[in-house]
Amino acid sequence: MDYSKLVEVYEKLSKTSKRLEKTAIVAELLRETKTEEADKITLLINGRVFPEWSEQKIGVASKIISKAIAVATGIAPEKVEQEWKKTGDLGDVAENLIQKKKQATLFSNKLSVTKVFTNLQKLATISGEGSVDQKVQLLAELLTSASPVEAKYLMRTVLEELRVGVGEGSLRDAIAWSCFPQFVQLFGEREETEVEKETEKKTEKVKQKSKKKEIDESSCKKIESIEEIDKYKHTDKLLFISEEEARLAYNKLIAAIDHGYNMTNDFSQVIAIAREKGYKGLLAMDIQPFRPVQVMLYQKAKDIKDAFATVGKPAAFEYKYDGFRIECHIVGEKIKLYTRNFEEVTKQFPDVVEAVKKHVKCDNCIFDSEVVGFDPKTTQYVAFQKISQRIKRKYEIEEAVKKLPVEVNVFDILYCDGKSTIDKPFHERRAILSKIIHPKDRVIVLSRIMITDKEEEANKFYNEALDKGNEGIMVKNLEAIYKPGSRVGFGVKVKPVMESLDVAIVGADWGEGKRSKWMTSFTVAIRDEENKLVAIGKVGTGIKELEGEGVTFAQLTEMLKDDVLDEKGKEVIVKPKVVIEVHYEEIQKSTTYSSGYALRFPRLIRLREDKGIKDCSTIEQVEELYREQRGRNG
Ligand code: AMP
Repeated sequence: MDYSKLVEVYEKLSKTSKRLEKTAIVAELLRETKTEEADKITLLINGRVFPEWSEQKIGVASKIISKAIAVATGIAPEKVEQEWKKTGDLGDVAENLIQKKKQATLFSNKLSVTKVFTNLQKLATISGEGSVDQKVQLLAELLTSASPVEAKYLMRTVLEELRVGVGEGSLRDAIAWSCFPQFVQLFGEREETEVEKETEKKTEKVKQKSKKKEIDESSCKKIESIEEIDKYKHTDKLLFISEEEARLAYNKLIAAIDHGYNMTNDFSQVIAIAREKGYKGLLAMDIQPFRPVQVMLYQKAKDIKDAFATVGKPAAFEYKYDGFRIECHIVGEKIKLYTRNFEEVTKQFPDVVEAVKKHVKCDNCIFDSEVVGFDPKTTQYVAFQKISQRIKRKYEIEEAVKKLPVEVNVFDILYCDGKSTIDKPFHERRAILSKIIHPKDRVIVLSRIMITDKEEEANKFYNEALDKGNEGIMVKNLEAIYKPGSRVGFGVKVKPVMESLDVAIVGADWGEGKRSKWMTSFTVAIRDEENKLVAIGKVGTGIKELEGEGVTFAQLTEMLKDDVLDEKGKEVIVKPKVVIEVHYEEIQKSTTYSSGYALRFPRLIRLREDKGIKDCSTIEQVEELYREQRGRNG
């Protein structure tokens, strides 16, 4: 496929904010995509060249992009920088400057999707001496063949900021619409898109007024239930025995695609299976070792009573350890550790690998654990921020192991003896864990658990958990399956404080006087319904001037300064990358920030290096917290 075709689709997508329209546009594109390119298109439509689970990142700094634009256009690098400062968007800069150049030379080669995809993947493999020049060359090569609008989207993809708003939900639905025949009874519910209207015009079809009535049964295959769907791979339209059956079938199909995605974190693999093996193939998709799985998330319950109401009685109560999640994959001698962000941290934790080798009696499994630091002298747990240093540590690891030892608290199992265990009930998974983990105190243990249906006992356990320095407790439904990536109410957490928020830093102000070398006040944002970041406040408290006392201004400035997208006076806008956890006194309604809310007295608690932008708190959570807070205040 020509890259220009994909770019046309990007343009269409950015012109609508309606989810159904976006879905139809993507579905149309996927229908036109050949199988060999379906994986690439599925990734690129989401602004990626590597699937979510992959360790590999394009990893190109804004400065390299501006250099590449300079090389490709022959315009002085300073001029490119100037333009960048003016617009704040390197994609727009590339478009404008390439436009000027093209007018002068009228030269253009056609770019193919495959060429773009391969060159962008190549960027991730370039490292070491001379790598800056090589990256600039590779990008400049693409830019020279690109049209202005292609240049814009190329640069946005490289920056990992495509911004065409295709979320997981739309992509999932688009796979359903494009890889399976149409469910005619439901078709009437779909809004027509520009693409469809145009196609209709082209084929001179008369627009149907009431689609449901005009279904031409003779042109449809009749089907009783979704289980038969794979027989009709090459048909256009399916007519179910009833509208209810069609709806049920559609929901099952969507659930099957969701399942495939949850197992792989990779839509490019899901579409390949959907096309090749159909509905049954999707259902058979499974977890694979060394492909990290999303962690199951837990809603917050107000108290023990509320927890029982969601989870049922009896329930399992566990300590909620204040560390970070490590997902451990074992096949034979090979062991790999991943954070909740799919970052591989095996090298940073040789002590954990050793503990697993000695005390886990299964050589083909994936388990979920919380790794907590403790003071080697007192053996008391230490705060998360202390131990989080070990995640980023690349050198002198042995020394860090001695200074900051950790205990692995295993709380779930996702895969055992070559098979996924996530569909087994919690009590069975726990029983498997008890068999394979041979606990050793302060090295590797099973999370502390108590099963009860009595509020009084549960409250006692909760207090005990807090006394021992844990964050709170987890309350789990004994019969529930493990559902990667969703807060489904199979388990809840109970914690004492006003829930903290994980927010992305999207901007900052340079300080004044003796603080002028640092950024000192940070604009922070949460995610809205469309996963866009919306500001919710400015944080300057909780950050230290001196090293050794916690997160410092110097440290944050260092992390952000190469990602400044725009600068006006003392204010800068930065590419959202850094996630911090904040406490606050209250949530207020506000017109100052784009979220519509403001945090009163926000304070940085810690850096969340284990979290990415997609893990930031959402507007839904903030709304819920706002309502709870009003409830409390009467
Ligand atoms: P939250 O991030 O607050 O939604 O809580 C979920 C996280 O709590 C999980 O991802 C784990 O990292 C952590 N956690 C700590 N202890 C447990 C436990 N006993 N069971 C499940 N998750 C736990």
